Amino acid sequence: MKKRFGIDIDGTVTCPASMIPFINQAFELNLTYEEVNEYDLTPFVNVPEDVFAKWFLENEPLIYKGSPLAAGAKKVLNRWKQQFELFFISARGPQLLEVTEKWFQRHEVTYDHIELIGSHDKIDAAKRHHVDLFFEDKHDNAVMIHESCNIPVILFNTPYNQDPLPDGVIRVNNWDEADSWVQQWLKKQMALKRTPKENQLARG
Ligand SMILES: [Mg+2]
Repeated sequence: MKKRFGIDIDGTVTCPASMIPFINQAFELNLTYEEVNEYDLTPFVNVPEDVFAKWFLENEPLIYKGSPLAAGAKKVLNRWKQQFELFFISARGPQLLEVTEKWFQRHEVTYDHIELIGSHDKIDAAKRHHVDLFFEDKHDNAVMIHESCNIPVILFNTPYNQDPLPDGVIRVNNWDEADSWVQQWLKKQMALKRTPKENQLARG
């Protein structure tokens, strides 16, 4: 049976710096990706929380439409598509499904399923879909998914997710490193399924 991957979208499949140019333009700031060291962007803008929240809601479709792919994501995901089931599980609201699907089509990234849950609590979706691995950029999500679902979680390294990690949450710098980790993990999974005799033969 194919392994099933749960994959976050924003900051994981899309470039983690996607939001910055939109914010700089809207609020006349000069923020850099490197200085944004928290997931929540509210402290970095010069407007009250409710104003920023309203701006974000209104501009989400534009931001998602214009988000570039993360470096290497397309190559690795399209290599994985034969081997694994790719379930994209995002905190985006369900009303953004069309803009999200179009983005995947335009960037030629294939998927088996897209689920927009409208909240950061992905544990239920990860359990319901029985994913074997999860890919995230949000630190607390990665830790919670790992602990609640008892699966490894790959965390894409960003300035805003630098807190320490438990074993079982694996920090990678890019999609190539994620792919290397997955290939090693897969070998171990296959070895676990084989009998000792088959393992002896596999080792040659
Ligand atoms: Mg994300």
